[in-house]
Amino acid sequence: MADVEAVPGTQAALRRANQRRVIEALRSSGTLTQAEIARATGLSAASISNIVRDLRECGTVSVRETSSNGRRARGVTLVRPPGTVIGIDFAPTRITAALGDGQGTVLARESIGYDVAADPERGVRRAVWLTETLLGGARTDRSMVTAMGVALPTPIDVTTGEIGSVSCFPRWFGFRPAEALSERLGLPVVAENDANLCALEEARAGGGRGLEHVIYLRLSHGVGAGIIVAGRLLRGAGGTAGEIGHMGLDERGQVCRCGNRGCLETIAGAPYLLDMLPRHDDSAGPATLAEMVDAAVASDPGSRRIIAEAGSALGRATALIANLVNPELVIIGGELAGAGELLLEPMRRSMELGTLGSALSDLKIVQGELGEDAALLGALRLATASVEESAR
Ligand SMILES: [Zn+2]
Repeated sequence: MADVEAVPGTQAALRRANQRRVIEALRSSGTLTQAEIARATGLSAASISNIVRDLRECGTVSVRETSSNGRRARGVTLVRPPGTVIGIDFAPTRITAALGDGQGTVLARESIGYDVAADPERGVRRAVWLTETLLGGARTDRSMVTAMGVALPTPIDVTTGEIGSVSCFPRWFGFRPAEALSERLGLPVVAENDANLCALEEARAGGGRGLEHVIYLRLSHGVGAGIIVAGRLLRGAGGTAGEIGHMGLDERGQVCRCGNRGCLETIAGAPYLLDMLPRHDDSAGPATLAEMVDAAVASDPGSRRIIAEAGSALGRATALIANLVNPELVIIGGELAGAGELLLEPMRRSMELGTLGSALSDLKIVQGELGEDAALLGALRLATASVEESAR
């Protein structure tokens, strides 16, 4: 895949820089004639003419005939409102990108299957390509985008932006995804753990609206949680708060990828659940978590049993967190959440056994309202919030 980023110092990079100057001038002054843009940017009339033609072709500006000091002139106006942001959701086998208007509305989206975990540099290049495809399809110039937010199924150090050692992407350990994307796209980029973003988005616009103490469990390839206490996300000192997948539940259980034994993830993580299925040569059973959930909903006894046991383990782990932070609501998301009551019922039962009466009395467990889009929407909101923060 050819890299689409302009190499600094080249003609393309210069053109892009000049486009940005024109857009900045329009952003601060509203409609301007081409002569006024030339004065504001110091660029020649011929350059302005070319840049305006390019921006008009990609739908960034509109041009109409007007008059200035009694002479015919061309009035140029920005079409896309300032505040356009991009969100990227990196999942183990898929990258999804969305263009948002800064108000929480998705203007366009693109998605591709990709082995993201294999290599961080290639994952980032693929995301840059997807971003360019998204912008091209939405006829939006990159210079109109103010920021990008990124969701990753990994712990991320808040101060350095580095990916932690135990994650769904072990090869990304020590990598700084926001920095790498920012260098290639020339945009401010912020990255955050996906379960944290899901928690924030569900608490803001989904099932946890108006609540201050919410736990979100993302049940997918791995098991992670976003914990909101008193309206604020709990990140911990190094960004690993909420890594409940590595809560030790069975000291004689399987050895986990983190090196400990019997972690929640070895009982409720997708690879382990799929491994528990009996394999018959003559029948093709579920190969993904989503297929296992479908089989369970369609009454496959093996899939039902495995999901029920995962629910019990998740209930025990959730009871421990509930005793610590006393949430009002536990929201479950990720592919496994699609099992609905097949998972929730055994989860509630084991929570009742392990939670203090006072912590449990008002506690509800529900499926997320935003479904698989929670992380992507959260990434868009993260981008918007970062722009507002830097404007302060
Ligand atoms: Zn573990």
